[in-house]
Amino acid sequence: MDTYIFDKLKNEPIIAYLSMEIALSPEIPTYSGGLGVLAGDTVRSAADLSLPFVAITLISRKGYLNQKISPEGWQIEQPVEWDVEKVLTPLPVQVEVEIEKRKVRVGAWVYPWESARGTIVPVIFLDTNIPQNAPEDRSITDVLYGGDSRYRLKQEIVLGIGGSRILKALDLEVRKYHINEGHAALVALELLQGSKNWDIEAVKDLCVFTTHTPVEAGHDKFPYDLVKEVLGEPIPLSLLQQLGGKEHLNMTLLALNLSGYINGVAKKHREISRHMFPGYDIHSITNGVHSFTWTSPSFQALFDRYIPGWAQEPELLARADIISDQEIWTAHQKEKAQLIQLIREKNNIEMDEEILTLGFARRMTAYKRPHFIFTDIERLKRINQEGKLQIIFAGKAHPQDFEGKRLIQQIIQHSQKLSPEIKIAFLENYNLEIAKKIVAGVDVWVNTPMRPLEASGTSGMKAAHNGVINFSVLDGWWVEGCLEGITGWSIGPESEEGNPQEIFQKEMSDFYGKLEYVIIPTYYRHREQWIKLMKNSISKIASYFNAHRMMESYISEAYFHKPFPPLSNSSIAKYKKD
Ligand SMILES: *Cc1c(COP(=O)(O)O)cnc(C)c1O
Repeated sequence: MDTYIFDKLKNEPIIAYLSMEIALSPEIPTYSGGLGVLAGDTVRSAADLSLPFVAITLISRKGYLNQKISPEGWQIEQPVEWDVEKVLTPLPVQVEVEIEKRKVRVGAWVYPWESARGTIVPVIFLDTNIPQNAPEDRSITDVLYGGDSRYRLKQEIVLGIGGSRILKALDLEVRKYHINEGHAALVALELLQGSKNWDIEAVKDLCVFTTHTPVEAGHDKFPYDLVKEVLGEPIPLSLLQQLGGKEHLNMTLLALNLSGYINGVAKKHREISRHMFPGYDIHSITNGVHSFTWTSPSFQALFDRYIPGWAQEPELLARADIISDQEIWTAHQKEKAQLIQLIREKNNIEMDEEILTLGFARRMTAYKRPHFIFTDIERLKRINQEGKLQIIFAGKAHPQDFEGKRLIQQIIQHSQKLSPEIKIAFLENYNLEIAKKIVAGVDVWVNTPMRPLEASGTSGMKAAHNGVINFSVLDGWWVEGCLEGITGWSIGPESEEGNPQEIFQKEMSDFYGKLEYVIIPTYYRHREQWIKLMKNSISKIASYFNAHRMMESYISEAYFHKPFPPLSNSSIAKYKKD
């Protein structure tokens, strides 16, 4: 194997996109959730848009985890097997990084992501499983988000420093390094270390940073003792502390201080980030999903007929109004039937195509409140007598997230208790494949995060591409996406100010109240009105919350943008003359 796929990228400087996880396809299980799927959609849109773009991630030979659920409802994690040699192509380059004062060799594999047009974005997978490495170093790139903080820091050295060196070994000139979340921040340190006289401004000129975490506790932080042992002292400690924090090396802070363009992933997330990090000029580029990937086959066929060109220009989906009601409904029912079939096979539960179906699927962790629906079980049962309900859940908990596992167990216990009145299915092993089926096959997509912890969220955008209606807490992207009663419905107050108890009461009364008095009556008795909302989801949400629009913003604001020069006297004079 030579490096021919990189040849085309040698005419102009590239965008190098570094991300701990990238969800490309079900056969490459190196992702855990939304961050990885967003990175995958970024690659897909970059290829569609013919961007000079290379993505870099870790090979995660043992993946994240395969999820089984025990009869007691407890998550069991199984190792993931995947055939690296079959799926990826080795690259004839190797670099060295220093970890715990040892030389560690880093190899690389490539997956050439090819768009429908034939344009390619190479995705590079970094790998320390090389015979010359010490056994403990060979496992550095094994498990995504596995191990302790020492293991994590080693992985981040491979990603940031190893990634940058691999690009150099491939002889690629880089226009911007896009640091996707703090995990990849060490690329900026590597650039600083390689610059003349620690030239911070030169590094900032090269780095774009996207932050995804609206809580302080979510940011990677490493004690300096550990940093010294594992990373050494690539730049003087005092300078590192100035850039990355006095007490700990905070990867978010390091990236903030070394990036010339910084953004949050929704407008609201930008405001939260500005409060968390006063003094930084933080912009916002709201996330989007790759339209073609997340549109189910039935809707693809429909859009192809009514809105040709929609996959290349998803903004055309604004015209979804022209699609006939009957065809929208038929396409939806077809996807719903397939999901019901999947649940019959996997869970041995018989659901009904004519029953209003709610969906909730994402990483299972406390702040997402997957159990919110069960806050008032008696009310849920009463509502179910007004109009029948069925509910589909899916999601993995991180192996060390005991609370997340307990929530899965709660959902399963509730579903056993509520059966057969309300049928509830928990689909095992949430992944790209299952996500595609659930976001297209339910009627209503529910999201109930604890605010302001959902930086953006993207699964609701996927649902909207399939005419599935969102019903969610006003956090992340939904603050921008929700037009009450037009694109979907909100849960809880707009403002976050106020007594948490009162906010929770309002969330409950909205959830159960709108379900009973708005959603059920519309679904069962005003089908035309319902289909109008389905079409609005496509025309008013999918047309904007897609990855093409997102990438066009990155292109114009972050990748190719040069700050406007200040107006000189002569240019002011020129404006006056005009
Ligand atoms: C889209 C997606 C997510 C993200 O879901 P959110 O509701 O935005 O958190 C997580 N996992 C998979 C497999 C996905 O496809």
